[in-house]
Amino acid sequence: MRRYIWSMLMGLGLGWSGPGGEAVGGTETLAPGVVLTFDDAFVQQWEAVLPLFAKYGAHATFFVSGPQKLSPAQVEGLHRLAAAGHAVGCHSWQHLPAADVLKTHTVDEYVALEVTPALAKLRELGFEPTCFGYPNSSRTPETDAALLRLFRHLRIGGMPKDGKGLAASDEFFLKPDAVAQHGCLLGKGMDYTGDERYPERNLPDLVAALERAAAQGEVLVLYAHNIADHGPGHHLSPAVLEAVLAKAKDLGLAFHTYDDLP
Ligand SMILES: [Zn+2]
Repeated sequence: MRRYIWSMLMGLGLGWSGPGGEAVGGTETLAPGVVLTFDDAFVQQWEAVLPLFAKYGAHATFFVSGPQKLSPAQVEGLHRLAAAGHAVGCHSWQHLPAADVLKTHTVDEYVALEVTPALAKLRELGFEPTCFGYPNSSRTPETDAALLRLFRHLRIGGMPKDGKGLAASDEFFLKPDAVAQHGCLLGKGMDYTGDERYPERNLPDLVAALERAAAQGEVLVLYAHNIADHGPGHHLSPAVLEAVLAKAKDLGLAFHTYDDLP
């Protein structure tokens, strides 16, 4: 729906238009923006920050692992997230890193063990995932090829290389019209941002990346897990999430879910 609104604005000449961003022949044009993603099954904590997302008109994608283990309350919570415009993606059955499974199994066996049952279970629960997030970002070109037959996009992960800041790491930024050609979208982890134990994970680095995406008309994918001040699990503090949401909104970046992506 949000993409249709964007297309209408483009049609009226009200929207952003940049290099390669023009709507042509009625095709939908993706706005520059940020794709916020959260992994595993922290449904209660995710739901607790629904008002925060709403405050900034933001939507995220929640990559759910172990759907067979969700409690009825968690399933209801995921439905409330979906009803609020957030997307639910697939994050595997047992959260096994693909590379570990591939030591003793073929790619087809990996898919049959870890992916197809999770996808089927999510569908049975009433969701229709368009995307898969790799547990531990573990993957191979062969798993990518197999999974892109099941999903429109995959989320892979990484950190900037050679001591570079995120904004200087071109591999994390895509022009909107290149998103459809990229099955794998590289995300940058944002857990522990602002935690002084992880100085390389700092808010100014994230802000600079958002400013780059806005200035250059690009799409940036970010990921975290729990949204809480102290675990359990890897976590991003609600205060840092709010700072990211506020900055992205202030810069005019769109908040895309994976379901919005062409
Ligand atoms: Zn995970």
